[in-house]
Formats: sequence, structure tokens, C-alpha cells
Amino acid sequence: MKVQSIRGTHDILPGSVELWQEIERTARDLFGLYGYAEIRTPVLEETELFARSIGIETDIVRKEMYTIEDSKGKSITLRPEGTAPVVRSYIENGVSSEVPVAKLYYIGPMFRHERPQKGRYRQFHQIGAEVLGSDNPAIEAEVIEMLFRLLQALGLQDFTLLINSVGCPVCRPAYVDRLREELRTRAGELCEECRRRTETNPLRVLDCKVPTCQPAIDQLPAIADWLCPECREHFSLFQKYLKSQEIPATTAPRLVRGLDYYVRTTFEIVSGRLGPTQNALVGGGRYDGLSELIGGPPAKGFGFAMGMERLVLLLSGRADLGAPYKPPAPEIFLVHLDQPAFEHNLGLASELRKAGIFAYVDFEGKSIKSQMRQANRLNARFTCVVGESELQTGQMTLKRMADGSQTTLKRIEIAEYLRKEK
Ligand code: ATP
Ligand code: MG
Repeated sequence: MKVQSIRGTHDILPGSVELWQEIERTARDLFGLYGYAEIRTPVLEETELFARSIGIETDIVRKEMYTIEDSKGKSITLRPEGTAPVVRSYIENGVSSEVPVAKLYYIGPMFRHERPQKGRYRQFHQIGAEVLGSDNPAIEAEVIEMLFRLLQALGLQDFTLLINSVGCPVCRPAYVDRLREELRTRAGELCEECRRRTETNPLRVLDCKVPTCQPAIDQLPAIADWLCPECREHFSLFQKYLKSQEIPATTAPRLVRGLDYYVRTTFEIVSGRLGPTQNALVGGGRYDGLSELIGGPPAKGFGFAMGMERLVLLLSGRADLGAPYKPPAPEIFLVHLDQPAFEHNLGLASELRKAGIFAYVDFEGKSIKSQMRQANRLNARFTCVVGESELQTGQMTLKRMADGSQTTLKRIEIAEYLRKEK
């Protein structure tokens, strides 16, 4: 039997990987301007980290985690998200004693055992950023401004920012009680999962994606009417700062994040082009209680995670991630007629590369014809055939593949010529 990749995972091949690299480069450059430094945490963490922080009643912890026992019987999990590991690391490394406000970003794979479909995979990638140590709503608006600039720099246009406040431990409990009462009276209109959530975690019903639940969800009370004065003030300042940055936002009264640790500001960036149940490109919000949940000191936190696969689908306009393999195109393909020319070309290629030029040499000892065919297949911009006479005269002829035009140059002039042609 042929060994194949695991369902819900993808190879990102040359031809597609360039877009991923561009996204990463753009994000790194831009985040740097806002003072964010990269953090790389392990892919494996103690299961406890996610169970405690994300919450045992969430879909992620209940059904989506890849968890194994190691040989000593310790339960470990492939990270399903990046925030809890960043906060774990922030605590463990005493970052708060180094800086009052830490700004960190990460880029990497996450793992969730979900039913694979367009925009939903079992290994997927997130770019995320976290700011720890501040509960200023202005910093929330700054994070969102940074995200907008990233998406705009990448050329994405049709996206919408949804915002909400999920209150805090002061005001949320009363709302949750009210919600539960209402849900009990509507049990008949809800899916089995939502009936269960009614008792265990009613807030999560608002997040349900089952179509038949939506009419009932639309009728539920909105948390906005239940916020305490502090949460109300926080939310209105956040909106004011967004406005002063000219960032358009739509208030979404039923927007709650799927994770337990969020308080106050939550947001999503959605795109209609991703399909109804996986339209979220970015999810984020404030998680002031998370550090304490995992045994750390109190620490205010705000951040987001963006799904890279969903971003790639939007930017590439493709329906799937499996773009075919496409090797990079050489600037110049050096063709050799015989062994001395081959050895010469190795030296020339090395020199050209030092000058920053992608030079290609054939190693298969093939005929000129097959080398030219290969140059065509690779879509090389120039070819240069080297034989005995080129070696004697030191004059080489470069052929531009697009129009067949030729230029004869001294060997030392080639790098300069190609650089100008770039
Ligand atoms: P969804 O509602 O689509 O399940 P989520 O609420 O589980 O998303 P978060 O945990 O907030 O998502 O993750 C942030 C982002 O990561 C999402 O907006 C999405 O772009 C991406 N993401 C989450 N799960 C997956 C997945 N299984 N495959 C691909 N991308 C994902
Ligand atoms: Mg999910």
C-alpha cells in the first residue's frame, strides 16, 4: 500500500510556498514596526495547559485535541492554538519583570481533530500576536490597525471587522443566567449539542454553527444590555480609538469567541468568500484571566490568531490548497557541450550566485538538446551554451528565451548584464 499524507494535512509545494513566504515576510516586517518580537514555543505542551485555559467545555478540548500519553504516563497534546503556550512561556520566563508590556507574535502549525473541508484542516497554521501587560482599549485598536495594514499590504480587500464585548466576571454571570433561562424555554429549537451547552456553558450556544439553531440564536438576549459600567466604558473607548484610526467596525452582539478565557473585547475578521461556516479569517480578544488560570500572576492580555490557510485561499483565489508543483525559474541556465565546459560552468554558476543571480547547471550529463528542453521547462530567462570555442575566446552568447535575441559578452560582464536585466 502506498503511504500517503494524513487526512486534513497538506504539503505546501514550490509554486505555492512563495505566497506563504510573502505573507510571513510581510507580517514580520510590519509587526516589527509595532514593537512585536517573535516567540517560538514548542508544538507539544502538557494537556493540562489547554484543558485549564481553553476550558474543558469547549469543542477544542472536548473533541478536537490530539492527545497522547508519553512513556511515563504524562498526557501531552499537540497545540490546538497559540495563546495559552505564549502565556505559559511568558510566565515561565519571567517576561513581565523585564518589560511592563510585552508584545509577541508567532507563526506556526496548530492541530485540531476536525472534519476536514475547505478552510478547515487538522494541521493548519496561524499567525498570531499577543500583547501582555496592558488593559488599555487603545492597544486593542492598535492591534487591529496592525492587522488591517497587514491584510491591506497583502492586497486583501473584502473583509469585515466584527466586534463585541463579552463582559467580565462582574457582569457576565447575570447575563449567562438569563441566557440559560431563555435557552431552556427554546430547547425544542436547538441541536443536541446546544441543549447540553445550555446547562454547561450557555454562552457557547451563541457560537453554534448548526443552521437550524440560528433562528433561535437570533432571538436570544444580547450581552450589550448587561454590561457593567466599566465594561461599557471600555467598549466605547475601544470603538472611539478604532474610529480615530478610520477602521470600520460592525458590532456583532452575538459574537463570542469559542474559548473560555476571553473577557471584554472580542473580535473577528470575516470574509464572505470563505463559505458560511468557516468565514472567520481572524479571531481574537482580551483574556485578562488566562495567566491566573494556568498558575501565573495576574496579567492583562489581548491578541489574535489568523488562519493562514484561509488567508491563502482568499489571496490565491483557489478553491483548494493543493496547487501543483512548480519549480522556481532560473535567471540563467548554463548549457555545456562537454566535460571541460561543464567544469567551467560550475565555476561560472558559483560566481553568478555570489553576485545574487540564480544560475542553473545541469548535472545529468545530457545532450544540448535535452538541456535546452530542461531550460524551457524550468522557464529560464536566459540560456548560455558553452563549448570549446567559448572557452578559447572567453566570449559567451546569452540567449533571451522569451524572444530568442542574443547578446555576446565577456565572461566577467555576464553578472552585470543579468543584474541590469532583472
Ligand atoms: P471556527 O469558528 O472557524 O472553527 P475558531 O473559532 O475555532 O474558528 P480560533 O480558535 O479563533 O478559530 O482560531 C483563529 C483562526 O484560526 C480562525 O479564524 C481560522 O482562520 C483559523 N482556524 C481555526 N481552526 C482552523 C482549522 N481547523 N483549519 C484551518 N484554519 C483554522
Ligand atoms: Mg473551531
